[in-house]
Amino acid sequence: EQAMLEARRVPDHMLLGGTPVQSDGVDAAELLEAINGGQLAMHLQPIMDVRQRKVVGAEGLARWFHPSKGAISPGVFIAVAENSGMISQFTRWSANACLQIVAQAREAGHRLPVSMNLSAKAFAERGLVEQLLGALKLWDVEPKDLVLEVTETAIVSDIQRGACQLRQLNAAGIRVSIDDFGVGNASVAYLKQFPATEMKIDQSFVTGMLGDLRSLQMVKAMIAFARQMGMRVVAEGVEDENTLEALGDLGCNLVQGWAVGKPQPASEFIRELAGSGR
Ligand code: C2E
Ligand code: MG
Ligand code: MG
Ligand code: MG
Repeated sequence: EQAMLEARRVPDHMLLGGTPVQSDGVDAAELLEAINGGQLAMHLQPIMDVRQRKVVGAEGLARWFHPSKGAISPGVFIAVAENSGMISQFTRWSANACLQIVAQAREAGHRLPVSMNLSAKAFAERGLVEQLLGALKLWDVEPKDLVLEVTETAIVSDIQRGACQLRQLNAAGIRVSIDDFGVGNASVAYLKQFPATEMKIDQSFVTGMLGDLRSLQMVKAMIAFARQMGMRVVAEGVEDENTLEALGDLGCNLVQGWAVGKPQPASEFIRELAGSGR
């Protein structure tokens, strides 16, 4: 009994910066069981306003702790959901988890806008708009407290339906953020057709930028581009204080990364929100 419990616990070495690093093979049936059986959890990572040094939101990052296989990384199980026609179910779980968090934070006396990742496939699914608006209603959350993170790949995968749904969501007051900006294979020109309110500069440009002139130049250029387009900019993968300060000097609005906080269970995050006066 004790040994079994021990086997189910996620050892610290399997969590790198709050990110699960193990990834055994899993299949669609196991994922369905995880969704329905409460094996999934939504963790939160703070997003900080650089000038105010204040947490102004959080990104929801899904976690799966499999009873025998341990932590499965999101890269693995999101691919399983996408390839097995389960993306709509996963999106429903994810939207509910994110909006429940917004509602719980509100009950604790805090406004906490949550950024929800949307897989490229979810974006091209019929009925996404109704699904998300329904979830907002269910949790009595205002659209402005939900941010949808979509990748450039998502934008291209089904340009017609994607563009149309994104416009509807935006018109309803939900904000849209372009995730992993700079590493997708989409042309910048696609952004012409999308009402994105935010750009997230991919961590591959940010993390080592102080030691690499090319990266630094590209981060500068992306910040300038975003501002020119009237978008807010979030730098991802900010791991140290020097980088955080440099980003502030460059005019980057928001930062996310280990220097600010690692992903942690939502309940813990909300509790600390209360304690720190965030
Ligand atoms: P993402 O949306 O770009 O999320 C950022 C990833 O960077 C997260 O990895 C996060 O833990 C990690 N990270 C945050 N700060 C730092 C840092 O300072 N340094 C480094 N090296 N890494 C940092 P994670 O949680 O493994 O998620 C990976 C990807 O999986 C996400 O990339 C997102 O595309 C996807 N994902 C995660 N949760 C969900 C979800 O609920 N739905 C969907 N559709 N995709 C999700
Ligand atoms: Mg994201
Ligand atoms: Mg990202
Ligand atoms: Mg990323």
